[in-house]
Amino acid sequence: MQFQKAVLQSTQVPPASLTRNDIAAEIPGLLPLYDEFPDIVYTKADPVYETISPAFKTSTTTKPLAVVRPLNESHVQATVKAARAAGLPLGIRSGGLEMAGRNYKGTDKGILLDLRSLCSINVSDDKTSATIGGGTIAVDLAVSLSKQGIFTPIGWHPRLGYAGWAMAGGYGLYSSPYGLGVDNILGARPVLADGSVVDVDDKNHPDLFWALRGAGNGIWGVVTQLTIKVYPPPNLLIGTLKILKKDWLAALDEWANNIEPNLPDEFGGEVYFRNPVLDSPEMIIFFAWCAKEGEDIQKGWDYFEKIKSLPGAEVQRIAECEFRGISLFCRIYDERRRLLTNERLADFATHLTSEPSAQPVSYQVRGVIAKGLTSNIASVLNRQWTNPKIYSGIPCHCAHGNAIKPDPSACFPLRYRHRLFPLNSRHSELMGTEEGESLVAELSARLIDGIKATGDAYVGASYQNLIPPVDTDLEVTFGKETLERLKTVKRKYDPDNFFSRGYPALDV
Ligand SMILES: Cc1cc2nc3c(=O)[nH]c(=O)nc-3n(C[C@H](O)[C@H](O)[C@H](O)COP(=O)(O)OP(=O)(O)OC[C@H]3O[C@@H](n4cnc5c(N)ncnc54)[C@H](O)[C@@H]3O)c2cc1C
Repeated sequence: MQFQKAVLQSTQVPPASLTRNDIAAEIPGLLPLYDEFPDIVYTKADPVYETISPAFKTSTTTKPLAVVRPLNESHVQATVKAARAAGLPLGIRSGGLEMAGRNYKGTDKGILLDLRSLCSINVSDDKTSATIGGGTIAVDLAVSLSKQGIFTPIGWHPRLGYAGWAMAGGYGLYSSPYGLGVDNILGARPVLADGSVVDVDDKNHPDLFWALRGAGNGIWGVVTQLTIKVYPPPNLLIGTLKILKKDWLAALDEWANNIEPNLPDEFGGEVYFRNPVLDSPEMIIFFAWCAKEGEDIQKGWDYFEKIKSLPGAEVQRIAECEFRGISLFCRIYDERRRLLTNERLADFATHLTSEPSAQPVSYQVRGVIAKGLTSNIASVLNRQWTNPKIYSGIPCHCAHGNAIKPDPSACFPLRYRHRLFPLNSRHSELMGTEEGESLVAELSARLIDGIKATGDAYVGASYQNLIPPVDTDLEVTFGKETLERLKTVKRKYDPDNFFSRGYPALDV
């Protein structure tokens, strides 16, 4: 049994190598920035441009006129000031996994501010918090912390920007034991629309601190630093089980009645429906049990037995992992708990990224939030797989335990028990053609409308990072009062809506 290692992009790139004439020809408005900091401005004339400009989604085809890669906070300030002075649109990116490419919109006439070189990680002496650069990517964070014998929750994908993931919500395997990403943010340092920098936490600018945690992303300023909580590393029981479609009805019935209503806080696992072999849909259960310091992992094994007894469940792998020093040791078992191998993983992140990574590709995205994986929703999911040429991936992210603990100091609105169903689909042969796109749109709409029609959905409620505007009603999501409060904060800190390429669109 092998853990597949994720291939990671380096966060550092060579300095830009453009002349003043290049800048004058392509984006003269940036000459003042170039004159001060020539190394950080890349246009199409620079050999590095092609590697740093694309977004994760290949459907985001916008080519920014210039990519600026700040190496420190004053570079960010100078870029914001230069963009404003020249009237150039500015989009912000870190991990680049934004589903709709909204941060690239208009940058073909302006700037993409790429924060990936702001990737620093400083842990406090008492090892309870860390201050990280605003462009830090999840896997770099996990590796760095694990080397220091500590841990913080991150999301599913190794290339997610921590800020982009956490500031809008931040779901993942560790949300129920440790809270969402927003719950782990202790402070932030945004560069505001006038180029000034502020320290934001529960005492300083608490209104902005509240808004920065959970509204969405990229609409308040450029966050150059976040201070986050870190913890002693947990022990983990992690694995995957697969159930083929012939057993779904029975398995989902059991799940909906006996598992879904009583998910323990320690269980952060997920259910994922997909058809990687197009005519063979499968339900994958990512099993993740998290035993915090002093907790017994045996409880996880007992729970694993329960999940394993679902009709048709086939164990793909199960591993018990613990930290010793800076390494993670995994004991990998077969389905009857017979030890197969003892593996020493160099670092925690290697384990976290052991699931095959999604490849950059163009998906259509729809989404809905519902009470849970109920019997009604299970029967809609069961009916979904009618066109074997369309790939659908339907993660069912669950929010329970500490993920739904109310926190009035953060605006994140979805503090009630729910599951997210962000559906991504593509046609295997006709991707990018009108016919293919409309077939995919039709099948996606059928699923979303089907879930909405069950009466188990919170129609209009949205997680801004994963559910697109077409399925979002901001008033339903935030409630009228919170939405008004968010607009007040926006008017105060960014009255001209300079940061307009983020979400949600607050229309102030
Ligand atoms: C394959 C895949 C897996 C995913 N898995 C999960 C998951 O497990 N859990 C989950 O909750 N979500 C998940 N998401 C959604 C993800 O959280 C969002 O797409 C998130 O916005 C990605 O952040 P990013 O920094 O990688 O993206 P980017 O495209 O770089 O940025 C996203 C947004 O954040 C803003 N932004 C980024 N950094 C900063 C900053 N420092 N200051 C100000 N604004 C900033 C940008 O302007 C943009 O609006 C996933 C998405 C994909 C495509």
